[in-house]
Amino acid sequence: MRIVMKFGGTSVANGEKIRHVATLLKGFHEKGDELIAVTSALGGITDGLLGTAKDVSKSGKVSQVKEFIADITKKHYDAIHAAIEDEDIISETIEVIDQRLDELEKALIGICYLGELTPRSIDYISSYGERLAAPIVSGSIRSLGIGSKWLTGGEAGIITDSNYGNARPLEKSYELIKERLSPLLNCSIVTVVTGFIAEDEAGIISTLGRSGSDFSASILGAAVKADEIWLWKEVHGIMTSDPRIVPEAKSLPQISYIEAMELSYFGAKVLHPRTIEPAIKHRIPVRVKNTFEPAFEGTLIVADQVPSQDVVKAVTLIKDVALVNICGAGMMGTIGTAARVFTSLANVGVNIIMISQASSEANMSLVVMEEQLETAVNAIRSEFNRNVVGDVVYDRDICAVAVVGAGMDGTPGVAGRVFGILGKEKVNIIMISQGSSQHNISFVVSSKDAINAVRALHREFTEGHQ
Ligand code: ADP
Ligand code: ASP
Ligand code: MG
Repeated sequence: MRIVMKFGGTSVANGEKIRHVATLLKGFHEKGDELIAVTSALGGITDGLLGTAKDVSKSGKVSQVKEFIADITKKHYDAIHAAIEDEDIISETIEVIDQRLDELEKALIGICYLGELTPRSIDYISSYGERLAAPIVSGSIRSLGIGSKWLTGGEAGIITDSNYGNARPLEKSYELIKERLSPLLNCSIVTVVTGFIAEDEAGIISTLGRSGSDFSASILGAAVKADEIWLWKEVHGIMTSDPRIVPEAKSLPQISYIEAMELSYFGAKVLHPRTIEPAIKHRIPVRVKNTFEPAFEGTLIVADQVPSQDVVKAVTLIKDVALVNICGAGMMGTIGTAARVFTSLANVGVNIIMISQASSEANMSLVVMEEQLETAVNAIRSEFNRNVVGDVVYDRDICAVAVVGAGMDGTPGVAGRVFGILGKEKVNIIMISQGSSQHNISFVVSSKDAINAVRALHREFTEGHQ
């Protein structure tokens, strides 16, 4: 089988784990599978890179850069020694890592002096996590006696637009990847590709958004016509809810592409939201597996609707969001208000997560990511004069909750059950939205009620109360 396998940050968090991953890959390789391994950064490194870049762009403290470099040097050196046995491979890998760390240090010091951090430089800095991890993963595979080569996402052929921080692959990537990776697939080595990062047409490093290595694996899988795409994580596949919030959450053996997409759009941090798109195009099954319990089946995501009695498959929670309320009597019957709201937000790159408008038309509510709230409010305020939109108010102290499941389509009474349960739990609902696909019902509650709401809905729909 031809399989593209992605290993997330928790799967390659340190040297022992990398060695475990290399051993897993060896097993598949020896069985005759053709493999491409996509690696994330070592756990926590991307956060560290982003945090440090942001801090030093404000403080200008070169000493902080030095401390950070010392810290990640140690982490990567430790990983090399634990993941690789062969002395020659250790020295080769250290040479590559030293060079990378040297470049990174210079770039961070540059940011100290410049005092500014553009989206393009953020992508450049955050790319180091994967660029430091890939040589170690590849070295670990080689040290088990299997040929391996590593490439960056750009070298593998993932070419994106220049929307740094959330770049999209251009269509031509698919041909390019096929051209570049096919020869490697045919020569019995395990190719390691950095997840998350790519290049734009000018050859400048771009990233696919946080958790983007899922998306990288799917793009590569579609391009090389893989039989399957496997995403290795620290959880038992896709579960009925985030196990960190609902300890009773169960693994879902099989779900459809559509359900997986709804889940990832609605905050299930288990998948990057765009992961499923390339897989759908080529109808490639996606498996989500637990790196540390490889024998467990995990979740299989497939094209067809999976017959199930459960109308609701999963309950998700999106934190770090904010509610924007646009109101004003002048909005009633004023054609084009919604269009102007959406256009003004699109122009400043704000992504709208939920929308709701009452039929009185005097009020429109939107949910956006909290980090984009200020930009959103400013954009709407500057678009309208006071005659149409009276005021734009916002609330940061909210969460969005969604119940997801294709079985809701056409099944009456689900919304009644959802809101009945919330009433019983005395959870006040601030805003409601249901897409016409009827695959999810989402609503906004105050942050203090959110976990209670998720657990109550999970009990109602997935813990044997059907
Ligand atoms: P990666 O290594 O690819 O970043 P993780 O192992 O961190 O992936 O991914 C899974 C994370 O997603 C877990 O920490 C888990 O708590 C969270 N999560 C949120 N919702 C779900 C869900 N419905 N099913 C499984 N995991 C979920
Ligand atoms: N390392 C990146 C992140 O932490 C990408 C990934 O892990 O998928 O977001
Ligand atoms: Mg993740």
